Amino acid sequence: MAKLSVERLECRGKTVLVRVDYNVPVENGRVSDDTRIRASLPTLRHLIGQGAKLVLVSHLGRPKAKPEARYSLRPVAVRLQELLGKPVVFCEATIGPQAQAAASDLQPGGVLLLENVRFHPGEEKNDAAFAKELATLAQAYVSDAFGTVHRAHASTAGVAKYFTKAAAGLLIAKELEFLGRCVYQPVHPYVAILGGAKVEDKIAVIRSLLDRADSLLIGGAMAYTFLKAQGHGIGKSLLDSPHVGLAGELMAEAKQRGKALLLPSDHRVASEPKDGATATVCGIDIPPDMMGLDIGPETATRFGAEIARAKLVVWNGPMGMFELPAFAEGTFSIARAMAKSSAITVVGGGDSVAAVNEAGLADKMTHVSTGGGASLEFLEGKKLPGIEVLSDA
Ligand code: ADP
Ligand code: MG
Repeated sequence: MAKLSVERLECRGKTVLVRVDYNVPVENGRVSDDTRIRASLPTLRHLIGQGAKLVLVSHLGRPKAKPEARYSLRPVAVRLQELLGKPVVFCEATIGPQAQAAASDLQPGGVLLLENVRFHPGEEKNDAAFAKELATLAQAYVSDAFGTVHRAHASTAGVAKYFTKAAAGLLIAKELEFLGRCVYQPVHPYVAILGGAKVEDKIAVIRSLLDRADSLLIGGAMAYTFLKAQGHGIGKSLLDSPHVGLAGELMAEAKQRGKALLLPSDHRVASEPKDGATATVCGIDIPPDMMGLDIGPETATRFGAEIARAKLVVWNGPMGMFELPAFAEGTFSIARAMAKSSAITVVGGGDSVAAVNEAGLADKMTHVSTGGGASLEFLEGKKLPGIEVLSDA
C-alpha cells in the first residue's frame, strides 16, 4: 500500500484526530444499526493501545450547515462507550474553546467524540479556516471514513495538510488493498457485475471497467436502458432515456474491444412493483403492460457461469428490486455464485451490501466495501481527495 498506515504512525501520548464514519441511523434517540461504529473499533483499539489521545470527528445525516438535534452524535457516543467498554466523552462543540478544552483534558487512551461536523458550513465547503481550526485540536490525523473519501470536505481532505503525518486507518487500508488490486493488478478472468437503479452514476464506471475487466454483466434497472438501445421491448420498466444512445455506444465499444457485455435474456416481471406482487418469468422482450423487476432464471444461470470461471469478481448494484421477496432471487443468486467461487470477490454499494448481508453471505466474500460512491469512483480509477491527502508510506 502506497499510503502511511495507522500501524506505522508514531502516536504515543499524542492527540490524534480520527475521521470516522458514524453516519448511522438513529431512532428515538438510540442508534438502531451500529455496524459502522463496530467497523471503527479496530482502528480505535489500536490507537488506544498505543497510548494516543483520540479526538473523533464524523458527520451524521444531512443537516443544513447548522445544529439540528435529530442529527446530533450524542447517541453515537453512548453506543460507542458500550462497545469500547470505556468512557467516551461527548463534546457539544466541534471546534472552538469548548472543543479545545475537551481535547486538552484527554489522558493517554482517552476518547472524545465531537459534535456533527456538518453543523458547520465550513465542512462541506472545505473551508480552509474551518479545517485549520479542526486541526488545532490534535497533532496527527487518521482517516478511516472510506464512505466519504470521494468528497473533498474539511474533515475528510482539507484538514490533512495542517498535520505532518496523515495516516490511513485500518478500514481504509483494507479498502485500498482490495479495491487497489482490482484497479492496479487485476487477475483474469475479471468479471464485473453492475446493477441497481442509478444508470447515470454508473455509466462512467462501465467505460473504465472496459479497460480492465474481461466481461461485464449488467442487470437491475440499468439493464433496460441497454435492452432498449438494442431495440427490445422493455414494457413499463425503468428507463434512463437520455442515456440510451450512450448505452448503445458502450455496447459497440465492448464489442470492438473483444469484451463480453452480457445483458439479461429473461426477466421476472409484474404489472407494478408492490408488496405481495407475484412474479412472472418472460423472455428477452417484456410485454407492454409489464415491468421488469428482476433477472430471470436463465440469466441467473448465464451470469453464474461467468462468475464460476472468474478469478476476480467485482459487484455493484442489485439485479432487481430485491426489497420485495418476489424479486430478490436474481440478486441472491449472484451472491450465492460469488460465495461459491474461489475468485477474489469484492462487493460495493449500499444496497448490494445489504443484499449480501440479508443472504447471510457477507463472510464468504473476500471484501465487502464500506463505501458505495467511493468504491465506484475508486474502481473508475479516479483519484479520491480523502486518499490523496494521506502521507505516503
Ligand atoms: P447500490 O446501493 O448497491 O449502489 P443502487 O442504489 O444503484 O445500488 O440501486 C439499488 C436500487 O435499485 C434498489 O433499491 C433496487 O430496488 C433498485 N432496482 C434494482 N433493479 C430494479 C428494477 N428492475 N426496477 C426498479 N428498481 C430496481
Ligand atoms: Mg443505493
